[in-house]
Amino acid sequence: MTVTELLSYEAALASFDPVMGLEVHVELGTKTKMFCGCSTELGAEPNAQTCPTCLGLPGALPVVNEIGVESAIKIGLALHCEIAEWCRFARKNYFYPDMPKNFQTSQYDEPIAFNGYLDVQLEDGEVFRVEIERAHMEEDTGKSTHIGGATGRIHGASHSLLDYNRAGIPLIEIVTKPIVGAGDRAPEVAKAYVAELREVIRSLGVSEARMDKGQMRCDVNLSLMPKGSETFGTRSETKNVNSLRSVERAARFEIQRHAAVLESGGTIVQETRHFHEDDGSTTSGRIKDNAEDYRYFPEPDLVPVAPAREWVEELRKGLPELPRVRRNRLREEWGVSEQEMQSILNAGAVDPIVATIEAGADAASARKWWMGELARNANEKAVSLEELPITPADVARVSTTSWPARSSRASSPARAPRTRSSRSAV
Ligand code: ADP
Ligand code: MG
Ligand code: ZN
Repeated sequence: MTVTELLSYEAALASFDPVMGLEVHVELGTKTKMFCGCSTELGAEPNAQTCPTCLGLPGALPVVNEIGVESAIKIGLALHCEIAEWCRFARKNYFYPDMPKNFQTSQYDEPIAFNGYLDVQLEDGEVFRVEIERAHMEEDTGKSTHIGGATGRIHGASHSLLDYNRAGIPLIEIVTKPIVGAGDRAPEVAKAYVAELREVIRSLGVSEARMDKGQMRCDVNLSLMPKGSETFGTRSETKNVNSLRSVERAARFEIQRHAAVLESGGTIVQETRHFHEDDGSTTSGRIKDNAEDYRYFPEPDLVPVAPAREWVEELRKGLPELPRVRRNRLREEWGVSEQEMQSILNAGAVDPIVATIEAGADAASARKWWMGELARNANEKAVSLEELPITPADVARVSTTSWPARSSRASSPARAPRTRSSRSAV
């Protein structure tokens, strides 16, 4: 791999202000695809979940998935967006073997949701508002597997296999406005934004938004302006970053790389870049096409989407309490500090604790169990709290049982696994 010149993070931030744009793709948890009735279930034989529509065969006609539209509206509302009274799908034309129709059905100048924001809380408790440009509906592509090369990339491969099961699975793409003013905290803002967005998506029940399963992925756009300037620089777009930590590292790396290029009098090329998990670096992808190159035009095979205002208002009324509001409420109810709440969140313990309290435990002991013994146990086994063979009801029972004096901790439920019973946390 070619060595990339980097400036130290501190030196980069002393001379430049970063501008960031985050594009997040979320795969919806609908039973069927966006424009046909094929199943979206994971794990099927390659190409078993396909039909003439998602294979792009001549004459096949798409039909819009109503739950897909509903989910998009819910996401838009939760992000404080305006919901279009009328919008259309568009064809984004380009050739790639994993896209059998030769175009992606997406939305272009008429997204279903636009002009919103998401407030994210940073580690020191400060709240940063990230403005949302748009959230639009589109479909996923199929999946290529390159065989014979050393790295699994297309370079050096002898042939490629294609699986179209994923082609046509509904995606919502959420695009931020340029994020300015975050300074040296830009990478932290990026991570906090994607984390909060994931919480919002999960609270709506529209997707599990598991980044490790590719259900949520983030493109990190980044550019630098010399300090004092207000003119945006040329951006790079690091594609498909798939963990929170990687989002932060990718932003940090690009700040250091851009700074090194600019300081030495070079220019940044507008291009996509690949992120490498092993060393946190990015390498050049392809020169970025302009929107004009895609020859977008309105999709002639689908009717426009005009969600009735009554429907939108009904969905607005049905929105759950937003995660940040809920966390603040719980924090007060439980009497814990911001920091403690942050570690509860990081441990994935909010819902288990809530369920344990609902099952009769008091807040302090529910917290103590999930953040103590059980967290340690989950950590050792490298599983999530919800995957432990103990339910919130079990924990509530244990925490309300009065043990004889000096009872040993050998009776800890985590070390005496029970079989799964009713899971009130899920
Ligand atoms: P594309 O289709 O090329 O990815 P989008 O408009 O969908 O373009 O997304 C670009 C993202 O990058 C948006 O989040 C936008 O706010 C952000 N962005 C635009 N210009 C810049 C820039 N100069 N530096 C950093 N981010 C930018
Ligand atoms: Mg993009
Ligand atoms: Zn299909």
